[in-house]
Amino acid sequence: MAEINQVDLEQLLNCALCPNLCRCDCPVLQVTGREAVAPAGKARLAAQVQQDFMVWNSELLEAVSNCLGCRNCTVLCPFPDLNLCDELLYSRTGEKKAGFSLPSWEPYLNNLKRYGSPYGQKTADQAVKVAKEAEVVYYAGCTTLANNPGVLDAAQQLLKKAGVSYTLISEDCCGYPAETWGDLELAGQLAAENCRKIAESGAKVLVTGCPECWQTFSERYPYWGHELPVKIIDGSTYFLNLIKEGQLKPEFIELKKISYHDPCIWARTAEKISEPRELIHKIPGITIEEPVYNGKETHCCGGGRMFQLSFPVTAAAVAARRLNDFSPVATIATACPFCREGLLQEGRKVLDLVEILALSCCNEND
Ligand code: SF4
Ligand code: SF4
Repeated sequence: MAEINQVDLEQLLNCALCPNLCRCDCPVLQVTGREAVAPAGKARLAAQVQQDFMVWNSELLEAVSNCLGCRNCTVLCPFPDLNLCDELLYSRTGEKKAGFSLPSWEPYLNNLKRYGSPYGQKTADQAVKVAKEAEVVYYAGCTTLANNPGVLDAAQQLLKKAGVSYTLISEDCCGYPAETWGDLELAGQLAAENCRKIAESGAKVLVTGCPECWQTFSERYPYWGHELPVKIIDGSTYFLNLIKEGQLKPEFIELKKISYHDPCIWARTAEKISEPRELIHKIPGITIEEPVYNGKETHCCGGGRMFQLSFPVTAAAVAARRLNDFSPVATIATACPFCREGLLQEGRKVLDLVEILALSCCNEND
């Protein structure tokens, strides 16, 4: 993996020399007030290391890692080819990587090596048998399995209701957390295991319940040299298509006001802004009330780049800032387990779109 995660020094220097035009858009800067973790601040530190003017130490690694990967800085950035969050990631994981990790990452990296999940031992439910000749593999992702396995139950109810032949695999984490915490070798091992299990299932389609997994399967696996032999599709779009094809028939549910929180990856990387809203509009009885920042201008929930595990205080502060954008009485819907986890503060009701759709399409006996 030596040739991957190469820094584009010219782009990094563009940012390092910028007066932080995006300073109001970076949630990490906004909640911490630390110039060292402003977008240009992080770029300056990373550029100094790349040019051998500084050497990695824990403080530097902590500062450069303080990026949620939310890409909100791209909204105002004058450099269209700059992807700062990737350059910061590459600076600390590529050729001139730190070679050590932060203490807060260690237990999660150990869990990943031992159990294939940063959250620790897998439950019995996850040790599933692969059904042969299924058309679809549903991959919930480690954060859903650890924190809200009800989403997996809801997805299975919907797949059964729609008559889809599907299977689960004994999931290994997609590899995104391992890359985030600087272990590219481990990320590659997890990717290889997932590719093997998905190929063995014989399925044609991989449906993901998590945007980070979707991005890792779609973009990082080919970049790491691992190709999945399946079509990759996110859960919202897949279930929306099942409604359009008449395989799912949503019925009235009593959920008056829904505010949809766009996960950063869906909104700014995959540009999946209309599909989740279209899915909500298919459910009779629901009206959407948009939060102040929505679509491409969505604000981060604080959960990107594993912040809820790596930097929990900052993650909670970013989520609290995001909650100010919503009406206090709205039910928040989202399509990301990290967003759900972050926004579950202050007694807020937060549901995954899959859970809402299952309420509308399925009954307890399904
Ligand atoms: S991300 Fe773009 S706008 Fe923000 S500091 Fe860097 S160069 Fe400037
Ligand atoms: S990607 Fe998000 S957290 Fe990272 S520098 Fe840009 S705005 Fe800040």
